[in-house]
Amino acid sequence: MPLTDIRNRVVQAAIAAGRGAADITLIAVSKVQPAERVAAILGQGQRVFGENRVQEAAGRWPAFQADHADIILHLIGPLQTNKARQAVGMFAAIHTLDRLRLAEVLARLAQERGTSPDLFVQVNTGAEPQKAGVLPDDTDALVAAARAMDLPVVGLMCIPPAEDDPAPHFALLAAMAARNGLAGLSMGMSGDFETAIAHGATHVRVGSAIFGERVAP
Ligand SMILES: *Cc1c(COP(=O)(O)O)cnc(C)c1O
Repeated sequence: MPLTDIRNRVVQAAIAAGRGAADITLIAVSKVQPAERVAAILGQGQRVFGENRVQEAAGRWPAFQADHADIILHLIGPLQTNKARQAVGMFAAIHTLDRLRLAEVLARLAQERGTSPDLFVQVNTGAEPQKAGVLPDDTDALVAAARAMDLPVVGLMCIPPAEDDPAPHFALLAAMAARNGLAGLSMGMSGDFETAIAHGATHVRVGSAIFGERVAP
C-alpha cells in the first residue's frame, strides 16, 4: 500500500479517536526489506524507521544516513547486552527494555556517554512463554528501577499474541502506562494500527503494509 495511504489512515484513525495526528509517530519497519524498497520509502519523505536487529541496522543505515542526516532509527527487536553499546550509538529509541540487567547496562552507557536513547519497556501482555517482554505484574517494578537509574523511560510497548483480539492488550498497556505516568505507547502493526491508535498509541510500527510482504531471509 502506498505510504501516503498509510499516513492518511493514521490521520483518520487519530481524528476518529479525537486525537491529533501529530501525536502519533509512524515508524516504518524496514527489517529484512531490500535496500531498493527502503530507498523508495525514503524518497517519499519517510524518516523514522524501525529495525529489529542491531547488526542488520548497522550494516545498512550508515549509507542512507550519509545522504539523509535526519533519519531517526528505532530498535523494536530484542536487545542483547553485548550489543547494547552499538545500539545506543545508533538508535534514537529502544522499544525493548525488558529486564533489570539490560537496564543496568544501558544506565552505565548513559552515564558514560551523557545521553541515552528514549526507552520503552516491553510488556508481554499475553504472558506468552516464547515472547520477550516483562510480565504485566512485574512492569511497575521494572519501570521504577529504570527510573531510579535515571534512564529516560518514555513509555510501554507490546506485541499482542497473533491469535488474540489486540484491543484488550492495547487497553491493558494503556492502563499500565497511565498508572506509571508514562505518555508513550508503542503498539499497533500493519494489521491493527488503527485499533492501537483508538487505544492511545503514540508510536505505531508498520512494516508489511508499507513495504509489502517481507521476503524470507
Ligand atoms: C516486524 C515487526 C513489526 C511490523 O510488523 P508488520 O506486521 O509487518 O507491520 C512491528 N513490530 C515489531 C516488534 C516487529 O518485529
